[in-house]
Parts: sequence; structure tokens; C-alpha cells
Amino acid sequence: CGIVGAVSSGDVVPTLVQGLQRLEYRGYDSCGLAVHMAGPLDGVVRSGGLVRARSTARVAELQAQVLADGLRAATGIAHTRWATHGAPAVHNAHPHVSCGPGVRVGERPARVALVHNGIIENHEALRGELQARGYVFESQTDTEVIAHLIDSVYEGDLLEAVRAATARLHGAYAIAVLHHDEPQRLVGARAGSPLVLGIGAALDGPAAHYLASDALALAGVTDRIVFLAEGDVVDVSLGRYRIVGADGRALEAAARPVKTVQ
Ligand code: GLU
Repeated sequence: CGIVGAVSSGDVVPTLVQGLQRLEYRGYDSCGLAVHMAGPLDGVVRSGGLVRARSTARVAELQAQVLADGLRAATGIAHTRWATHGAPAVHNAHPHVSCGPGVRVGERPARVALVHNGIIENHEALRGELQARGYVFESQTDTEVIAHLIDSVYEGDLLEAVRAATARLHGAYAIAVLHHDEPQRLVGARAGSPLVLGIGAALDGPAAHYLASDALALAGVTDRIVFLAEGDVVDVSLGRYRIVGADGRALEAAARPVKTVQ
């Protein structure tokens, strides 16, 4: 239903939570976020992997959870879910993760974390294929297949993995994806569901960048918005972004102009 993502030099957790709060009016049955604990935060380099928090209560409850955990990170994704496949429950709430073939969630650090809006029509066929390769599913969602699919094609470059995985999807999606091995990178893609890129102000350092299913989610953060087109994949890192069009070619900046949205 709603997506927010952010890459910054400071803590993105408040931005993710506030973004979800701005999308609450659309309705949802559960919510969650995942952050990358590694990389620099406020100038201090940290280690750690992907950490996830989810709730079937309001966003305020998720906020209380992450405050109690003292969760702070420079890269993250967040979601409000309106269930289409799989009952509203914590184990079906996004983000969904993949820990690799033959590994249950919790046994080893997550490699991929992903949020998704939309419906994957061929999720059953993909689930069967991925299960045959050893992937263990923890949810009944159509979304979880995307996380395992990205893991199965990942060869060190999240943009390439997202492009290869989305080429196999039938249906509608907007996604935002994190990978364990690339702490300051966020990759998004859209086909049939909206996704925008938000460009933060560069005050004293590289600009933060954001993804959202609706520019409204970023209203408190930035008014500089790039509306992604059908089939776009966007590669976001601190201070820079690159959009790859449906044909696989990196686009010139003029092809997707930055608009000021009030
Ligand atoms: N189809 C996905 C699910 O049921 C995403 C639903 C949504 O857009 O929130 O989890």
C-alpha cells in the first residue's frame, strides 16, 4: 500500500516513521521497516546488518518499538501493507527478507530486505521454482518471492539483481530493496504501481535521497521530486542517483526532470 525509503548521512528512522504516518490515511493492516546498521552514521562508521521491525498495530506502535530498541541507521525502507495475498499478520507484514537458500529467517543474517506495493501474478510458479532451489518461505505473500528471486540472481550488484529479478515478474509492483553487502545503497523499481524519488537538500555534505509511493510521504522532508516512469529502476546512494529505463539504459537527467511539489 505505502512505501518509504531513505539513504542519508544521518538517522533515517524518524523520516521513515513520519513518511508512513503521512500515508496512514490510505488505510493499512500492518506496517514495518528494515534498516541497514552498517556504514557511516553522523560521521561514525558502524558495522552490522539488516534489522527489521514489524507490527499489526498502528504506525505509532512500530515507532514505539523502534524507539525502545534504540534503532538508528542511515539507510532504510518502510511499508504500510494492505494485504492481497496472505492474512494480515506480523509474519506476512513487509519488509520481507531472504537469508539465502536452505536458511530460515533468523538462522543467519538477512541478505535482502524488500517492501512491495502491488500484486505478483506469477508468484506461485516462482515460489515453486525457488523452493526447489532450497529457499524457505516464512509468509503466504506474493511479495516474498521477489526477495528470494533477487537473492538468487545477486552477484555483487543490487541494481543488476533487481533488473534481472523484475524481468521475471508478471503483475504490478513498486519495490524498494536493501542488500546486506551494500550498506549505503537503495534500489527501487516500478511497473504498474507508482514510485517517486525525492532529492534532499545538500547542506553540509552529500544530499540524502528518498523513495516513496507518493510524494506526500516526503512532504516534511523534500519538495524536489522525480516521478519515475513505467519500467524505471532507480539506484540510490548518498549524494547521487541513477535511473535506468525499461530498455536497460541509464537515462540523462533531462529524461526524468526534478519537479518542485508543494
Ligand atoms: N501483495 C502484497 C501483499 O499482500 C502487497 C500489498 C500492498 O500493496 O500493500 O503483501
